[in-house]
Amino acid sequence: MDSSSDSPPSEIFECVAATLGCAPTSRDVAAYLDQHDELRHMRDEFLVPKISDLPPSATSPDGTEECIYLVGNSLGLQPKKTRQYVGEELDKWAQTGVHGHTEGSRPWAWAENNIEELMANVVGAKAEEVALMNGLTVNLHLLLLSFYRPTATRHKILLEDKAFPSDHYAVESQVRLRGFDPQQSVLLMTPRPGEETLRTQDILDLIEREGDSVAVVMFSGVQYYTGQLFDMAAITEAGHRKGCFVGFDLAHAAGNAELKLHDWGVDFACWCSYKYLNSGAGGIAGAFIHQKHQHTVRPALLGWWGHDLKTRFKMNNVMELQPGVSGFRLSNQPILLVCPLQASLEVFSKTSMRALRRKSILLTGYLEFLLQRDAACPDVSIITPSDPQQRGCQLSLRFSVPIRPVFQELERRGVACDMREPSVLRVAPVPLYNSFSDVHRFVEALGAALASSRPTAHD
Ligand SMILES: *Cc1c(COP(=O)(O)O)cnc(C)c1O
Repeated sequence: MDSSSDSPPSEIFECVAATLGCAPTSRDVAAYLDQHDELRHMRDEFLVPKISDLPPSATSPDGTEECIYLVGNSLGLQPKKTRQYVGEELDKWAQTGVHGHTEGSRPWAWAENNIEELMANVVGAKAEEVALMNGLTVNLHLLLLSFYRPTATRHKILLEDKAFPSDHYAVESQVRLRGFDPQQSVLLMTPRPGEETLRTQDILDLIEREGDSVAVVMFSGVQYYTGQLFDMAAITEAGHRKGCFVGFDLAHAAGNAELKLHDWGVDFACWCSYKYLNSGAGGIAGAFIHQKHQHTVRPALLGWWGHDLKTRFKMNNVMELQPGVSGFRLSNQPILLVCPLQASLEVFSKTSMRALRRKSILLTGYLEFLLQRDAACPDVSIITPSDPQQRGCQLSLRFSVPIRPVFQELERRGVACDMREPSVLRVAPVPLYNSFSDVHRFVEALGAALASSRPTAHD
C-alpha cells in the first residue's frame, strides 16, 4: 500500500491527455492507459460475459460485445482453466472411482493442501496459517468458538454497526451461545453523525476507551457497503494493547487489498473465495490463525480432517491434532470446489498483490476522476473514502435521483454492477480483469442512463 511516492492518479490522467492532445475525459486516454497496462494480459485468463447473454440486454444491437463487468466484488469471473480442472476430476472419478483419493495430480484426500501456499501469498500469511474449508460464515463461527471466551468483565465483541448481515448474526448468536445478552455484549461502532465511514482515529480511541471489556475486536478488512479499507495494522495493535483478540472478515479484502496478516500480528481471519478470488458461487472459503497461537488456541469442535494426515487413516480414535488452523478442519474437502479455486489462485500467482494494487489505485482513481469531471453526473456522490489508502477497488455511489430506473438503463447498456436500494450503486473495477476502457464505457453509460431516466425539461 505504499504508492504515496507516485504522482496522484489525476495528474497522470491530465498528463496523458496533454501528451495525446485530447481532453482528459477522452476515450483515447483509456485506450492509452490500457496499452501501457502491464497487467492487461491477465484479462485473457477469464471468461467475460457477452452483453447478449445477460438477461436484461438480450436485444442489444451490439450484443456480441463483452459486457462492462464491474461486479467482481459480488461474484468474480470464471477463470478459463476452471472447466478443465473440474473436468479432470470428473474424468478421474468416472475412470478410477475411489482411487482418485490418492491418485493423480490432485489427490482428493489432500488436494486443498496443494493450493494453500498460493492462498497464503494472497493474504500475506504463511502456508501453515491458512486452511481452505467450509464457507465463510461457518469459518467465522468456528474461529469465534475458540477466540471468543467471554468473562464477567471482558465479554464484548466490537463490530461495525453496518457489518454484513451474516457477520452480525454470527456475532449475536455466539454471544447468546455463551449466555450473554447481545444488547450488553455486542458493541456496535457507528460513523459520526452526517458521515458515511468510520475515522481510523475514532476506531482506535473507542478500542482504547472500551477495550478492557472487549474480548474480540472483529472488523471487516474492506467494508462491503461503503468500500472503506480499514487500517488493519493499527486496529490490531490497538486491540492487542488492551488485551483483546483481533480478527477480520476479509470477504471484500482478499484479492483486493494488499494484506499482511502475519506481519500485522492479526489473531484470526476468514474470507470467502467467490468475490475477488473468483472461485464460483459458494466456493471453498479460507481461514487464518496466526502462528503464535498454533499450540495455544485449540478448536472447540473436532473432526477427522483435523487429525495429522500421516496417521489420519489409521482410524484408532486417538486424536493427533494438527497445530494451528489445520486442526480446525472437520470434513474432507470438496474436490469440485478446490478445482476452481486452484484455477484462480494460479492466475494470482502470475502476478503479485503489490502489482495488482498499483494498477487498482490507478484504475479506481480513473473511475473517480471521470465521475468528478462528468457534467452528466451531478446526481452522484461517492461515499467511499477518496484517500486510496482507505479503499480497495470498489466505489460506492449515492444517487440523489431514484436509482432503480438508472440501474435498469445501465443494465440495458451492458453494465453489470450492484444496486443497494434505496440509493447506492456499488461499482468495482477489478485490476485482474477490468480495463480502463471498461471504466470509460461505464461512465459514458452512466451519463446516458441518467439522461434517459431524468424527466425532460418540459415535464
Ligand atoms: C459475502 C460476505 C459474506 C457471505 O457469507 P457466506 O458464508 O459466504 O455466505 C459474509 N460476510 C461478509 C462481510 C461478506 O462480504
